[in-house]
Amino acid sequence: MLYLDNSATTQVLPEVKEAMLPYLLEEFGNPSSKYYSLAQNAKEAVDTARKNAAHLLGCETDEVIFTSGATESNNFIIKGVAHYYRGQGKHIVTSKTEHPSILETCRYLEDNGYKVTYLDVDSFGRVSVQQILEIIQSDKPTLVSLMWGNNELGSLNLISEIAAICKEHKVFFHTDATQIVGKVTIDLSQLNGIDFLSCSAHKFHGPKGVGVAVIRKDELGLPIQITPLLHGGGQERDIRSGTLAVHNIVGMGKAAELAYNNLTSNIEQLNLLESKLSSILTKKFGDKIRFNNDDSNKIPGVLSVQFKGINNEVLVRNLASVMAVSTGSACSSSKPSHVLQAIGLSMEELRSTIRFSLSPTISLADLDIFNSL
Ligand code: PMP
Repeated sequence: MLYLDNSATTQVLPEVKEAMLPYLLEEFGNPSSKYYSLAQNAKEAVDTARKNAAHLLGCETDEVIFTSGATESNNFIIKGVAHYYRGQGKHIVTSKTEHPSILETCRYLEDNGYKVTYLDVDSFGRVSVQQILEIIQSDKPTLVSLMWGNNELGSLNLISEIAAICKEHKVFFHTDATQIVGKVTIDLSQLNGIDFLSCSAHKFHGPKGVGVAVIRKDELGLPIQITPLLHGGGQERDIRSGTLAVHNIVGMGKAAELAYNNLTSNIEQLNLLESKLSSILTKKFGDKIRFNNDDSNKIPGVLSVQFKGINNEVLVRNLASVMAVSTGSACSSSKPSHVLQAIGLSMEELRSTIRFSLSPTISLADLDIFNSL
């Protein structure tokens, strides 16, 4: 069975598993304990993972806060900024094609007296830079939160331009980078204006249940202040309490190290796979299919394809014995996709759409399976 649902999750790499195992077995110490070697070893392992995560993202190690994943990071940053700066304004700007962990958090804030602007997107799901500028000039928000790459279409937003505008107007900017880590170069040290970033390890061959919230420093070199989501023992610079999941953090660190070392070859492989898959599909199905995704400025290895006149749920079920694909986001497969609705597809078009999401671990020969369908 060929797994083509890597935007939903990825398989833990063998090296990642090997790195994690000691921290599930003999090295079980709590990194917040002191003086004895089990605690010290756990702390050192967390420090190494933090360095690897920071290296992959191009930020400083003390800007990396470990969380349980991107859902928590998104909740933490949006609620944390909204609450901490509530005296300075209650307007947040996001887009209609964000992940539910952003949209539902924003709806929660709306129920609690905040104003949220949900930006429209173009036919590939990108926000307009001009529109952001206009909103900032007319009703200055506290926070702009926009995804870097879309989980259903793969389209990349113009993040560096948007971040620069936010910086110029002194508006905090957060990006949900969950889908692009390991597939697109991220170097926060070169990107002026990204104050916060979220990601999850399981999208780049790390374990589930661990992620990062990057909280950058301000012009004075001090961490940007936000209200914690989880109060308690004061782990993670007093801003995210809870005993650290050392095994998961070690796994994330190993996955980050591998993603960094292999970034160029992984991107090349994803591009090769994507172009082979799209040409096989075009040759085989001709005008019976239509690609919803753009073919440039996108996450490599993500294709969103309409199979005209065919119900996507039926197709996914019929394909299940040979390949794993999805109708879109795994998080909202029972509801019609809000992303495909936002780009203007009809109900019939979105009910016939399938997402193929590739991984560099797939070989070109694996895709020959499509020739036998
Ligand atoms: N943001 C995006 C863009 C995602 O694709 C996902 C996962 N589908 C998340 C956030 C949430 O990640 P997690 O489920 O690991 O918390």
